[in-house]
Amino acid sequence: MKIDIASKISSGVSRVKAYTPGEQPDTSDWVKLNTNEFPFPPSPKVKEAIMAEIGDDGASLRLYPNPESSKLREAIAKHFGVSREYAFAANGSDDILNLAIRAFCDKSKTVVTLEPSYSLYPVLAKLQDTELLSIPFNADMSIPFEKINNSGANIFFFVNPNAPTGIGFGEEVVRKIVENFNGIVLVDEAYSPFAGWSAAKLVEEYNNLIVTGTSSKGWGLAGMRIGWGLANPMVLEVLDRVRDSYNLDRLAQVAGVAALNDNAYYAEKLQLVLQERENIERYFDSLGWRYFKSSANFVLFTPKTKDGKEGVDVAKSLFEHLRKNKILLRYFPNEASINMSIRLSIGTQEQMLKFVDATNQWINL
Ligand code: PMP
Repeated sequence: MKIDIASKISSGVSRVKAYTPGEQPDTSDWVKLNTNEFPFPPSPKVKEAIMAEIGDDGASLRLYPNPESSKLREAIAKHFGVSREYAFAANGSDDILNLAIRAFCDKSKTVVTLEPSYSLYPVLAKLQDTELLSIPFNADMSIPFEKINNSGANIFFFVNPNAPTGIGFGEEVVRKIVENFNGIVLVDEAYSPFAGWSAAKLVEEYNNLIVTGTSSKGWGLAGMRIGWGLANPMVLEVLDRVRDSYNLDRLAQVAGVAALNDNAYYAEKLQLVLQERENIERYFDSLGWRYFKSSANFVLFTPKTKDGKEGVDVAKSLFEHLRKNKILLRYFPNEASINMSIRLSIGTQEQMLKFVDATNQWINL
């Protein structure tokens, strides 16, 4: 008997096209400025902690890890200045976004988000067979509060600083959202280290707030898959029901603790990233190119030809020119609101100079 597999797929999954992550080239000869990784290695204490966990013969790997990632939860709580029962750890923050949708959404309990936002959200919503309502930012890129509050959605996914624009919103905006939205507000803070503040502490005040974060962007650990969530213990108990019982391996748990405990190392490296962000924004100013002033570790900019033309073709032309020079950026040809723009992750000074050189060359082609 030959089964028609397509007819057996669940209704949510049958509508989904898998999320396309940014390209991850196999070779190291690229100037990789496409997926917003930290341009510096993690704290040296991370490697020490991993080596210590492995030991001489790797015997500890024989045993399952701590199911709650208890020490990591403690380190997360300490880092963000909240009590321990407000912290949760997961396999990257994508994992928590997925858990939140599974825990709080179904056919009648829906999601609302802003347009543009992180392009994974629609995929997660479809998988859960729930509706995702995408509300455009106001023309001045402010937040349409009324529309969000009247959406009837159960959960609001709010990326702050926004991806892919990099625009950051302050504490009063987050408070205004959380106080007026009749549901759960998930603030996705993947990029908050570059904004200089986090809403994490507010979870002790508001029981409908989840703040997620990741070691992938600000701690140089995208390869380890360590994410966190901060929320009221009642919310975390629900996420605990949904997660894998061993959702973080032993090495990730010790790496996360070591990274979160080394603030001095990261503070110094963060300054270098912020300096490069300022330099590149000044470069775009000097060219007269449009960009969103960024609170993240990337800049979304709109390239112009020498005779002042912008457009989808122009963005594609620069993207491809850079690619030919082994400089990889991210652009979104299928997203109408941003298809004239390209997103540049902030790299080291050397990487940024290569980007500037190749871009100057393109302008003068
Ligand atoms: N949120 C946003 C807005 C992101 O851009 C990313 C990374 N693509 C994530 C969450 C997920 O990060 P990670 O799973 O590596 O923690």
